[in-house]
Amino acid sequence: MSLRDFMSELEQEAKELITIRKELSTKYEIAAVIKKFDNGNGPALLFKKIKQKNGFIVANICGTRKRICKALRTTIDKLHEKISNAIKNPKKPKLTEFPFSKLNKDLPNINNLPILTHYEKDPGPYITAGIVFAKDPKTGTQNASIHRILVIDKKHLAIRVVPRHLYRIITAYWKEKRDVPVAIAIGTHPAVLIAASSPAPYGVDELHVANTLLRGALKTAICPYTGLEVPAEAEIIIEGKILYGKEVDEGPFVDLTGTYDVVRKQPVIKIEKMYYNQDDFIYQVILPAGSEHKLLMGLPREAQIWATVKSIVPDVRGVHLTLGGCGWLHAVVSIKKQTDGDAKNVILAAFAAHPSLKHVVVVDEDINPYDMGEVEWAIATRFNASRDLVIIQNVRGSSLDPSADQITLLTTKMGIDATRPFTKPKEKFERAKIPLEEKIDINSLTEEDN
Ligand code: MN
Repeated sequence: MSLRDFMSELEQEAKELITIRKELSTKYEIAAVIKKFDNGNGPALLFKKIKQKNGFIVANICGTRKRICKALRTTIDKLHEKISNAIKNPKKPKLTEFPFSKLNKDLPNINNLPILTHYEKDPGPYITAGIVFAKDPKTGTQNASIHRILVIDKKHLAIRVVPRHLYRIITAYWKEKRDVPVAIAIGTHPAVLIAASSPAPYGVDELHVANTLLRGALKTAICPYTGLEVPAEAEIIIEGKILYGKEVDEGPFVDLTGTYDVVRKQPVIKIEKMYYNQDDFIYQVILPAGSEHKLLMGLPREAQIWATVKSIVPDVRGVHLTLGGCGWLHAVVSIKKQTDGDAKNVILAAFAAHPSLKHVVVVDEDINPYDMGEVEWAIATRFNASRDLVIIQNVRGSSLDPSADQITLLTTKMGIDATRPFTKPKEKFERAKIPLEEKIDINSLTEEDN
């Protein structure tokens, strides 16, 4: 299962994948077009002509929940369960031969790829959909994670590594004064991107999670230089090493919130090998702070909130980290509550499951958590601030939130219980329905009767 396989599936549906034929520049212009289409429901985009560069660019592949569900062969209400189960049941993919052995005898030059410069204050072009593979030096287990990667020169990159799994691997190698062998894959099926952004525990290989998400259809291959395992059908594979002890300025760069992250000293990758089909390759892009970025970051967290809330209230209709809330800071949880106190417990559970969460709204099962109009309606008609508002002060929040104390990370969290109170008659809160409303198909109304 490859990126191309998924793109052909999208082509069969109206307006899921749009081809841009005008020649555009990698500096700001393509990013601006991606942003223009990004309204939370926008299509995937295929750019066919890139100024002074070979290859095609694809963007916004995972930009809607609908497309992610299509890629994983599931539905919106089963999505979180599917991701949770895949993390618990990783399965080894099928190893095949390394696909690029006959290509690219030249010295590697990263500038041959159409890497985008996105925002005004970016220090240069950034790789945004690169999946980075590395192995724990002691156990040999492999890790996969997505990182933003700044191009420094044709053979060097700066990589932002937050203190998670890759950071732990780098620390272990650096303790022994060794470089870290790494591979980077660009242009992969959505399942690989979703698995690589999942919170699978350390030691779980995200490629195995991706393989479960793909029902065993993922093929992998061993890189000739580093011996790392990568998706065999990736469009571009890069091999190299994170140099021992070397750090350079990385940033400023736009994060989930659409604000600039600070400049930090970050590790350097030296590129040793690059593999791709120079005559026909697709370079994949994730627009920083775009819907795709928010969905990929938020989905695994939604799955975590879903699992935690489900342990308290058995009937969870859905969990939504909203796009307006940066896919990170605002959640809506829809539950079928059994007693009046349930919603407040759900508020606390949501904060415990996703520590960066700042505001959460809990609604009843008759409210669609993905429809913000319905959610606001629930707040308007079912929420009473003196009774239903939960405020927690001086609590650890997100480093991304500019309104928090960004040194101590202390913030205030707010929970809104917008479920109807059991103390009043149910009919008071009933959403009026028009009979037959659900049966009417708008598209059929303009066709003539035969
Ligand atoms: Mn990991």
